[in-house]
Amino acid sequence: MNPIEKKVREAKHPVALTGAGISAPSGIPTFQGTWKNQPIRDFLTREYAENDPIGFFELFVDMVKWCDKEPNPAHKALAMLDIPVITQNIDGLHEKAGTKTVYPLHGTLHTVHCTACGKKRSSKEFAAELKELYDEGDRQKIMEGLRCPECGGWIDTDVVLYGDSIHHLYDAMRLSEQADLMLVIGTSLITYPAAALPQIAKNGGAEIILINDDCVKALEGICK
Ligand SMILES: [Zn+2]
Repeated sequence: MNPIEKKVREAKHPVALTGAGISAPSGIPTFQGTWKNQPIRDFLTREYAENDPIGFFELFVDMVKWCDKEPNPAHKALAMLDIPVITQNIDGLHEKAGTKTVYPLHGTLHTVHCTACGKKRSSKEFAAELKELYDEGDRQKIMEGLRCPECGGWIDTDVVLYGDSIHHLYDAMRLSEQADLMLVIGTSLITYPAAALPQIAKNGGAEIILINDDCVKALEGICK
């Protein structure tokens, strides 16, 4: 049996914390990547989205193509282990792999919402419409495209931007506190508060297993 599977089977409250490294083999770039020769993360801030919505949504439309990516064997292994997953990823690949309990700390790329009426829309549908407007290049029309078709309110991403508050923080902290085993997979743990969760788990007596180099290989053969 894969040694990680053995640990998970023996644990009472196992939990996984995942980051960009688990989705890299699915073809999703990390936020260390660039957009228009600047680090992507410089654009994923609340301040930038508010100051330059046209620039922000141009990047968003490009990112939405990640919605078509598929989970890799590491996502599938976690789903088969049937453990709750706290993730820094916005790609929805844990859900797509079949994990039942997922806490996406940084929200999701798959939907957008209206800031006025709250109505959600599929990002793919929204991005497809916007793409045509960007191709035409009329800024007035693009701004109109950023409004809710129902009520005219502004559309906002469901991705948590730098400067927004994190989602599911309470659940993530509770799970970490209760855990007796935490798999930390594909995250460099530089972003707070995800970085604090292994420490919370450790303080509660959990064993921490760090898997950073090759997630797919480390989780190979699970539940086979
Ligand atoms: Zn609306």
